[in-house]
Amino acid sequence: MQLDKEIYHHSKAKLQDYVPLVGRGTIEALNALAGRLSGKVIQNINSTYTGGGVAEILTRMTPLLNQLGVDARWTTIKGDDRFFSVTKKFHNALHGKIESISSEDFSLFLEVSRKNIEELQFNGDIIFVHDPQPVVLISKRHEIGEKWLWRCHIDVSNPDEKVWEFIQNYVVQYDATVFSAPNFTRRLPNRQFLIHPSIDPLSDKNRELPQEIIDSVLNKYGLDKEKPMIIQISRFDYLKDPLGVIDAFEMVRKNIPCQLVLAGGTATDDPESDKVLEEAKERASGNPDIHILLIPPESDIEINALQRSATIIMQKSIKEGFGLTVTEALWKGKPVVASAVGGIQLQIKNRFTGLLCHSIDGAAYALRLLLSNPEYARWLGKNGQEHVRQNFLITRHLKDYLMLFISLYHPQDVIYL
Ligand code: UDP
Repeated sequence: MQLDKEIYHHSKAKLQDYVPLVGRGTIEALNALAGRLSGKVIQNINSTYTGGGVAEILTRMTPLLNQLGVDARWTTIKGDDRFFSVTKKFHNALHGKIESISSEDFSLFLEVSRKNIEELQFNGDIIFVHDPQPVVLISKRHEIGEKWLWRCHIDVSNPDEKVWEFIQNYVVQYDATVFSAPNFTRRLPNRQFLIHPSIDPLSDKNRELPQEIIDSVLNKYGLDKEKPMIIQISRFDYLKDPLGVIDAFEMVRKNIPCQLVLAGGTATDDPESDKVLEEAKERASGNPDIHILLIPPESDIEINALQRSATIIMQKSIKEGFGLTVTEALWKGKPVVASAVGGIQLQIKNRFTGLLCHSIDGAAYALRLLLSNPEYARWLGKNGQEHVRQNFLITRHLKDYLMLFISLYHPQDVIYL
């Protein structure tokens, strides 16, 4: 079996290990569905192996599909910084942010896409293309692939029309599209599927950790175990609003002693992140209670440990796709304060599984409320954990993907197990 990246070492979890979490019936259903795909190669294609939610999911999903006997593979397109600056602008524009995109940008995007079309090794029966960066690969469909799927992980409900129209020319050529939530979609002529993302409860990012490991991570970063800790884990990206997090924290810290941790890395497909990191450092300078941590890729255990040490986890995004960091936080039973944007609203039912905010003042209010009501904070965290168990674990996601792949070959049928 060919795999384009060494991802097996991440996946020590066996499917049977999920039984205590989701029940035997779920695993049996997955096996039954997987059997329907024998002989088919599923080739995932995206733009990065590390950084961000898409890579996070593929890292876990690919080996689990392989364990089910499905020949799933994962390839990435190639591009230089100039290409990824353009795709980052597209990403922001599709989220509705105003960006100036020139005709040279569109030409560069097409030029690099054509190069990828020539050089990439296509080997799937189902070619599963993730997000806008590789969307143009569909131009290859007359040569290879029985079925082509476009998986959109971002909210394109209110995009810059020029960029959307350009992308749409390619999107409509796919057999089907997949979106994370109903309100993320556009009206399209092709079949549409709605599939929520997920987290893997047994990955290094999410599994239970011994206290010694958690303590060693806190020591490594010089964090005070005794002081309430507010954490946001995110790529350094304007849309994650790290400066807004600092402002909200400063308002709270005036009355309640606490520390803030902004931890994250930079994704290989995001050249903007260094600048955002510098701005965050500058805004935080001189405040010993703010810790800005640049975390290298593949620091799953460290991120897990930080999330588990948090008193409150924030996700004050201005725009968001699904927001896997929120899922991870809820799964760890943490009270979460997050903006009411994108997929966060599917995860946080306000005042039941966490607190939603709409502004810096609102975020500060929610932080104060939780810091002064630990019982209420615990109750929210517990509800949040149950919400994730029911809806956002990888076993549910695997089932949805298997059904999706099978349904491509049975466009008119209902599938019976
Ligand atoms: N993440 C990570 N390292 C970082 C920052 C984020 O591993 O430095 C992970 C984070 O734990 C989560 C994913 O990347 O699993 C981010 O997904 P999300 O949907 O929250 O946001 P995206 O980055 O895709 O916009």
